[in-house]
Amino acid sequence: MRFASRTDKRSGQGIRRLVLAQGVYPGICELATRYTQEFAVTLFGFREDQDCIVTHIAPPGKNAEQGYARCTGDAEFEASFFEELRKKDPQITWLGDLHAHPCGISSLSGQDLQTLREILLGTDDTWHPAEYVAGVILRTTSGVTIYPRHFTKENLDGSEMETHIAD
Ligand SMILES: [Zn+2]
Repeated sequence: MRFASRTDKRSGQGIRRLVLAQGVYPGICELATRYTQEFAVTLFGFREDQDCIVTHIAPPGKNAEQGYARCTGDAEFEASFFEELRKKDPQITWLGDLHAHPCGISSLSGQDLQTLREILLGTDDTWHPAEYVAGVILRTTSGVTIYPRHFTKENLDGSEMETHIAD
């Protein structure tokens, strides 16, 4: 007999962490200075137990649009960036993305959540992962603060993550 409620609760399961490897946080801060409005970064790295470890970020591509309260990614640029990373390390995965919000709103918008539903549940031939990290970047006086959430196909509202900066 299988006790679903017990087997689903892995021992020691705590809050998931978004771990930014060395150089990643300064990279995001640099982009937050370069792009004065909204912008998005794509996160690449590894999953390890409860941690999503970001080792590389793709900056906004040349076809990504930066403007007030809107940003469209550049899927072609992100895909080729990912391909290059995989040549160097085939284990690397696409973890999710972060985008900057103006006006100090740290939560994802209704539009953001709708986009996430499409990423996770979509049925077209683009990439639809089982889990995804999405979060908001807010500029602060000393850099940026990141508000990441962890989404799965079963958890479309996402769960809060803790940000851990390695450097
Ligand atoms: Zn947003």
